[in-house]
Amino acid sequence: VLGCAGTFPAPGAACSGYLLEAAPAAGQPGVPTRVWVDAGAGTLANLLRQVPVAALDAIWISHLHADHLSDLPLAGHALCFGPRPAAAPIPLFGPPGLEAFLRSALPDGVPTALATAFELHELHDGDRFGVGALELEAVATDHGLPTFGLRASGDGGTVAYSADSGPSDALGRLARDADLFLCEATWARRPAGIPPIHLTPTEAGRLAAGARAKRLLLTHLRPDTDPGRTLAEARDAYGGWAALAVEGAVHELPGPARPGEA
Ligand SMILES: [Zn+2]
Repeated sequence: VLGCAGTFPAPGAACSGYLLEAAPAAGQPGVPTRVWVDAGAGTLANLLRQVPVAALDAIWISHLHADHLSDLPLAGHALCFGPRPAAAPIPLFGPPGLEAFLRSALPDGVPTALATAFELHELHDGDRFGVGALELEAVATDHGLPTFGLRASGDGGTVAYSADSGPSDALGRLARDADLFLCEATWARRPAGIPPIHLTPTEAGRLAAGARAKRLLLTHLRPDTDPGRTLAEARDAYGGWAALAVEGAVHELPGPARPGEA
């Protein structure tokens, strides 16, 4: 977990970002596959504790909100101007509009910066990509603008990431039998007068239960919500192993489903 603060940062706490790492497929030599999933504020600095940007196999941007995106241009700086530039552009998966955003955010006068840093792939619902030892599947979620959750599968199991989303049948498909469901739980309560573009903890728990996800990791909590209450409400609705995402935490798969354990 490179960062998990929802919607805006908290003091010393980064917004959404995760590093997926998969061992080489059984019998295959090589290095782990590494995918940076969402580039919220503060996550690049935390990523660099683990791996240089140039050593990533791919980057996944779920949608064009700043709390999932703001560090991506700086990753472009690192790839173009850093001490370890990319030997080849890093595959970058993201929604429509990402290329225009990067063209405006990367430096003027360096027209090749975008092409030097990134190999862009525009996401659509149901797209599948093989990246090293992982298969990545895009699942469109319900967030008011094009947003893509990620289902990542490898020998170690399946991680499903909700990105940001309101309640949606697509999330059930995304999380079906996943070994770990990394699910947003932004709102303590559904606010009045705003479309349902996020989940409450109870909704996240119900989705995890319906999808028979083996473990539930709650993320993207607004910094002004009560984490203990969020976890308790999600557990009540889910019934399985559930925990809160914590910046810096590592979750190794496959892991046993341990009902009720924190
Ligand atoms: Zn967000």
